[in-house]
Amino acid sequence: MSSGSYECCGHCGFPVYDDESLSCPYCGRLLDRSAGFVSGLTRGRTRWFGVLVAILLLIGLLLWLVGW
Ligand SMILES: [Zn+2]
Repeated sequence: MSSGSYECCGHCGFPVYDDESLSCPYCGRLLDRSAGFVSGLTRGRTRWFGVLVAILLLIGLLLWLVGW
């Protein structure tokens, strides 16, 4: 029992005691869970990592074309 650990809905302000539910039982909107925030952060980091790899590949290609 995790008594006291509840999250208030960011839309209607009612406390949501169900840790598993992804949407508010009062207003029906999606809750901004910390897990969603973390997954969004990971997605952003993965996207930036892809951009970084693409830039490094481009630089390597340019260096290879120049003849280093
Ligand atoms: Zn709500």
